[in-house]
Amino acid sequence: MATQELAGKRRVVVIGGGVAGSLVAKSLQFHADVTLIDSKEYFEIPWASLRAMVEPPFAERSVINHRDYLPNGRVIVSNAIDITETEVLTEEGRLIAYDFLVIATGHKYPVPKTRAQRLDQYQADQEKIKSAHSILIVGGGPTGVELAGEIAVDFLGKQVTLVHDGPRLIEFIGPKAANKTLEWLKKRHVEVKLEQSVNLNSISDGSKVFQTSAGESIEADCYFLCTGRPLGSAWLRETLLKSNLDIDGRLMVDENLRVKGRKNIFAIGDITDIREIKQGYLAKKHALVAAANLKLLMMGGQESKMAAYKPHSIKVFVSLGRTDAVAQFPFTTISGIVPGMIKSRDLFVGKTRKQLGLEPHIVHA
Ligand SMILES: Cc1cc2nc3c(=O)[nH]c(=O)nc-3n(C[C@H](O)[C@H](O)[C@H](O)COP(=O)(O)OP(=O)(O)OC[C@H]3O[C@@H](n4cnc5c(N)ncnc54)[C@H](O)[C@@H]3O)c2cc1C
Repeated sequence: MATQELAGKRRVVVIGGGVAGSLVAKSLQFHADVTLIDSKEYFEIPWASLRAMVEPPFAERSVINHRDYLPNGRVIVSNAIDITETEVLTEEGRLIAYDFLVIATGHKYPVPKTRAQRLDQYQADQEKIKSAHSILIVGGGPTGVELAGEIAVDFLGKQVTLVHDGPRLIEFIGPKAANKTLEWLKKRHVEVKLEQSVNLNSISDGSKVFQTSAGESIEADCYFLCTGRPLGSAWLRETLLKSNLDIDGRLMVDENLRVKGRKNIFAIGDITDIREIKQGYLAKKHALVAAANLKLLMMGGQESKMAAYKPHSIKVFVSLGRTDAVAQFPFTTISGIVPGMIKSRDLFVGKTRKQLGLEPHIVHA
């Protein structure tokens, strides 16, 4: 990026290169001097990761180097650990100055730093599944359910056990969706154990017998932990925004998606306290509202002209293998191939790539 080109441009720093952060950075890169700080060198479409575990080449499209959609921005691969009124401090001790800050650190979970390492990890996951006769999945939220669905469809004959400590699967949506999901899994011979937890301390490498809280023993050649991912806000607790976190650790925002009481700090995606279900398609909507408001402010527009974000009602798709899904809308729940056609074939990967200005499909020469 030529320094001349940037003269006069305002400095926007985006922390977190997930669903929301990648889109806001992409949208602003030709309007501002954009720096994206992310703990890894790539953006990954989270809901495509379970397909990538059974079909590693799928990750070629869903794990995207930040550079690919951000040719006019700067990428810093590091964790942000502190912020002041004017700068962000990274783990390596770098100080990045900003005029406007966008916090989009959604959820934090340990993944490799490089895209190549992440692709290798999927290869290893698939090997693990292929070589196992019996597989234990711990956690019956969307991650555990979608993984069980992928394995049940792609690896017929594997003995899959799903253990969940709650009274029903995918508890963040309604009981009807949970029942339809349970029926679907049972039909594909996935054994589901509810209201039990696996003693994670008893798990050691090479262990084949797992004890549950109900005193049952489950034999499995391998296991996958699909328990919830923690919010990526712990690092904010010691910063100037500590009083802007609510009791759940979410950043409180106003209707323009600025952190309450702050003129130049926005927050978007799962990290916010917006009263709606936490979903990627909503995180993308936040990103577009924040980008529009930032453009307006950077052009000297009036604050009163900023766009207001209106929370959305529920719309959730949980994929069940390659052709089926269960979907919940405000007044109805449906399952089978109709919602499956919407989500499960491509898992919105082509659509998400297009929104980032990339080809939906990669054409190999
Ligand atoms: C299995 C599964 C299926 C799902 N299916 C769907 C679906 O079908 N449709 C849908 O709309 N949504 C779906 N979701 C939800 C969706 O993935 C989330 O709502 C979305 O990822 C939130 O986006 P985000 O940008 O707020 O956070 P994230 O995507 O979690 O991104 C946060 C980013 O911040 C980075 N980060 C965190 N802390 C720091 C730090 N201190 N410094 C630097 N970087 C940091 C992380 O590494 C990450 O890159 C699904 C989620 C799961 C797990």
